[in-house]
Amino acid sequence: MKNRNQNHNNWMIHDDNTRHKTQDMKNRKHSRNAALLLGPPGSGKTTLANAVAAHEDISKIEAGALLKERIRTDEEMASHLKPYLEKGEMVPTQCVESVLADRLCEITRAHVLFDGFPRTEEQIRRFFALLRYQTLHLRSVAILSLDVDEAIERLVTRRVCSECGAVFNLANNPPERSDTCDQCGGELVRREDDKPEVVRKRFDVYERQTGPVVASFTREYPQLTFEHPSTALISQAAERIQRELTGP
Ligand SMILES: [Zn+2]
Repeated sequence: MKNRNQNHNNWMIHDDNTRHKTQDMKNRKHSRNAALLLGPPGSGKTTLANAVAAHEDISKIEAGALLKERIRTDEEMASHLKPYLEKGEMVPTQCVESVLADRLCEITRAHVLFDGFPRTEEQIRRFFALLRYQTLHLRSVAILSLDVDEAIERLVTRRVCSECGAVFNLANNPPERSDTCDQCGGELVRREDDKPEVVRKRFDVYERQTGPVVASFTREYPQLTFEHPSTALISQAAERIQRELTGP
C-alpha cells in the first residue's frame, strides 16, 4: 500500500494518476455535477445518500464513513483521528480533504453526492477548490432538518453489527434478537457516538460549526438549496437530487 501520510498537507500534488484522470474528465463532453447534503446527526443523511447513489451515474462521498474506513486500514491515521470521532469532535480539515481527494480519484461515475463535507465555514472554500479540481459543478444542496430530542430518540435505539456493519433500529427496524445480527449472526453493538450525551454534543457541534454553512449556502445559492424536513419522504428528496445531478 502506498504511503498516504506524506500527502496529508497537499492533495493538489497527490500523485500522477490524479492529474491524468482529471485530464480525462476534462475531455468528457458531458458536465460532471455535484450535490451536497447538510443535516444534523440522525437526520437520515446516510439513508438519503444511499437512495441517491442507487442511480448508476452517481457516486456518494461520505466523509464520516471514509474516515472510519481509513482508520481501519491506516494505523497512523487511526491513532490521530480516533479521539476526535469517539468524542464527537471535528476532525482536522486537512485529514478529511486528503481522504476525500483519494476517494474522488477512485470513483468512475460522472456525478458525486457529498455528505459530511464541508462542515465548517472555512471548509466551504476548500470544498469549492475540490470541485474545481475535479471539474464538478454544484447543482443541488439539500438541507435536512431535525431537532435534538428527535435525533436522540432515533440514535439511542440504533444498533450496528460488529462483524458486517449492518444497521438496525430497535424502534423501527428491529433485528429478530436484540443482540444478534440477522445477516451474519455477529454481535450488535451501540456505536460509541450514538450514546445520548455524545449525540447531544454532536448536535451542539453541528449547530455551532455547520449552522453557518447552512446559512451561507442558503444565502449565496438560494436557487440550488432546498430544505427537507425529517418527516418528509426520503424518496422525494432522493428523486429531486438525482434529477438535479443528471438533468440537462
Ligand atoms: Zn452482521
